[in-house]
Amino acid sequence: MSYLALYRKYRPQDFLDFAGQEEITKSLQYQVKTGTFGHCYIFSGIRGTGKTSMAKVLAKAVNCLDPQEGNPCGRCTSCLMFQNGGSIDVVEMDAASNNGVDDIRELRENARFLPATNKYKVYIIDEVQMLSSSAFNALLKTLEEPSPSVLFILATTELHKIPETILSRCMRYSFRRIQRDAMVARLAKICEMEDVAYETAALELLAEHSGGALRDAISLMEKSFAMARGDLTVQSVQESLGLLGRDRTHELLHGLFSGDLDGAMLHLGTVLSEGKEISMIFTEILSFLRGLLLARLMDDRSLVSYLGFSMEKYKDSYSHLKEEELLLAIKVFDEASRNLRMSNLPRLTLEMAMVQIATKRPIQAKVEVKKVVEKRQIQRIVEEEIPKESVELANVQLYWERLLENLKKERKMKVYALLLEGIVDCIDEESIRLIFRPEYKFHRDTIMEKESQDILAEMTKKVFGKRMQIFASLEGEEKKNEPLEEVKEPTETTADRLRRLMGDAADRLEIK
Ligand SMILES: [Zn+2]
Repeated sequence: MSYLALYRKYRPQDFLDFAGQEEITKSLQYQVKTGTFGHCYIFSGIRGTGKTSMAKVLAKAVNCLDPQEGNPCGRCTSCLMFQNGGSIDVVEMDAASNNGVDDIRELRENARFLPATNKYKVYIIDEVQMLSSSAFNALLKTLEEPSPSVLFILATTELHKIPETILSRCMRYSFRRIQRDAMVARLAKICEMEDVAYETAALELLAEHSGGALRDAISLMEKSFAMARGDLTVQSVQESLGLLGRDRTHELLHGLFSGDLDGAMLHLGTVLSEGKEISMIFTEILSFLRGLLLARLMDDRSLVSYLGFSMEKYKDSYSHLKEEELLLAIKVFDEASRNLRMSNLPRLTLEMAMVQIATKRPIQAKVEVKKVVEKRQIQRIVEEEIPKESVELANVQLYWERLLENLKKERKMKVYALLLEGIVDCIDEESIRLIFRPEYKFHRDTIMEKESQDILAEMTKKVFGKRMQIFASLEGEEKKNEPLEEVKEPTETTADRLRRLMGDAADRLEIK
């Protein structure tokens, strides 16, 4: 048995069979009924919206021997000829591959002969915008001397490329994107005829991803049939489209917005290991965020009719977010997705966007990156209660982070920046010793200056409950004061931690 793609198999056979485009079908049907149809039509619109199918039905209708209210009867010899593979009086030409002047000249020659078996000869020229300018001129001559038994139907996805001289001789119809409901109804009908059980939500998902092109929706559905091996479910459609789906997008985003970057990253890892495309993940994230934003402005019914899906199930989980935060997230993901094509590491592009969201601040420059990642770390630390009684070694890092954070808060940025490069080496009742790598001699020296020491004395009083002196020395230098207690594990510098957290991203952003 020969194979026929579903969209061909279920091509509309008459005007009543179309999904959407009601105004066009009504108008054409009326013209056929009253015999007022023209001799040249131009159908424009995006691909997959029924232009070629409409041209074929019109060709069939004008030739029908017994039209029913302008609609082809489907039973006469002419209609049957169309239904059984086409009529010799209907010539279809694809201007994408036959765009030369000779092709049109040949067509003109043939157009002089009377139709072989039908009332009208019909020429359907697809993608007519592809014709060369000399071919357009030849076509124009043909249109200027129309034969009463010839009908031209031109179809184009780019109306603006058609010369005005041609347009002025045609009746124009612009085909709209197919509305979701009409599309779902059509898909449901095909499922019934193919004897496939379906979930309506699965059809809605297909419609949503077809961009208003019914042909694409039908092709996507056919692909899903093949993968589903049974009923057409939301899950089978998601799988065949390589989609994450809204539930899993929600899992990914919810972690991010609640500050659980680790969880979100792990989730991302799982998703990627399933082979999901990064660009698709971006699309789904953006679609989800857009849904969240619109869900705040519209009631659910309007949202469903506008977007094609409901956000009712998810929106409460994000009610703590301000609209500006949602807008910022959309901006961050949108920008990142646009940078995707230029990125050598698409995964990193997505991860960076996620870090930005989790930290609720855009990464604008390399300097900012440091702050952003630190902030995330420090926020946690600031929120945790540190026992006040004694400065335990285990808490040194926490105190240190808090000290840095306070410096930043009080805009002591110079001291703050200097300290970033130091490692807390040891700490006792009265002092903290920092070690700097040899290349940071300037940092060491400046920390030891009175101005810095005064600031630090104030700050340590706030954080540790008493003034502590900060000693700074370079790695390998003789220590001037013996430390009372060694910090057991060498403490990472903030910059090192940043490098560890960010991995490749740090190198890319030249964090030194
Ligand atoms: Zn007929």
